Amino acid sequence: MHNVDVKFFPGWTRKSFTFTDDDGNLPLDKKFMDIMRPNGIKGTFNLCGTDKNRLSPEGYREFYRGFEIANHCKFHPFALTPERDRPIGDGAFDEKTADPGKNYPVSGVPGLYWFRTESGWRRLAPREDYLRFVRQGKEELEEAFGEGSVVSFVWPYCMQDDPELFAAIRAMGYKNIRKTGNLEDKTGFSLPADRTQWSYNVNHIRLHEVGDLYRAYPDDGELKFFCFGLHSHDYENNGLWEMLRQFAEDFGNRPEEFWYATVGEIFDYEDAVRALKVGEAAIANDSDLTLYAKIDGKRVTLAPHSVYRLEN
Ligand SMILES: [Zn+2]
Repeated sequence: MHNVDVKFFPGWTRKSFTFTDDDGNLPLDKKFMDIMRPNGIKGTFNLCGTDKNRLSPEGYREFYRGFEIANHCKFHPFALTPERDRPIGDGAFDEKTADPGKNYPVSGVPGLYWFRTESGWRRLAPREDYLRFVRQGKEELEEAFGEGSVVSFVWPYCMQDDPELFAAIRAMGYKNIRKTGNLEDKTGFSLPADRTQWSYNVNHIRLHEVGDLYRAYPDDGELKFFCFGLHSHDYENNGLWEMLRQFAEDFGNRPEEFWYATVGEIFDYEDAVRALKVGEAAIANDSDLTLYAKIDGKRVTLAPHSVYRLEN
């Protein structure tokens, strides 16, 4: 009998490391990437479609090269729920004179409305329009980043209180759907149990602190997940670029300790590990990925679509 341990990421570490960054602010995402790239940190940018006035499709591809792109829904709307259902105001929308008790059509975009929240006027869409904007976001992104490249969805604001909307987005076939909220270390840094409602560990506020908890988290034999968020503008607006740089230097470029990958890559890797067939005489890797294992304490790699024979 051999001692077979297949719960390793590339580099024979159990700890993955990634980020999830929303809204696609080009100048600030550039600042963010300029800190991540030299430190070898990968992650996922969640964009609300593309803006052809700013970058061409090729320009977008080059700009975000090496990172995953997820769909954050065109126009970044709230969903129309019963408590947001107000009479439709008429006349052109003017923030200064609009009635906060009414929703106003956004000019030029059928199915999109302005509605008043505690923090100001925000966009809102009824369910069918919302779903259309979800599809539009993905279409625009895939036009730039490639057909079939957008497999992750991130709710704008947060998961909306509409089970039918959620079901319809799940039915679109996204491999994962992210909601909003800091998990910190409450799940023991486990990989998400439900990928249709996963969330990140920490935003900019306790970044280093929760990173330190992850680093110190003891090996329990399971694959681990650390993901930080949430917007490039959080670092800009709070004067935290230097803090982020320090964090990236402390946690990046340590391939023995962490596997740096995008959110989608980490989940795909987990799927491949779960699909391994470990028998008494052999381990079959039917996936497209090279997997990392230890057999009787010895490091081995399991090539894609291959069978690794265990010696007697
Ligand atoms: Zn957002």
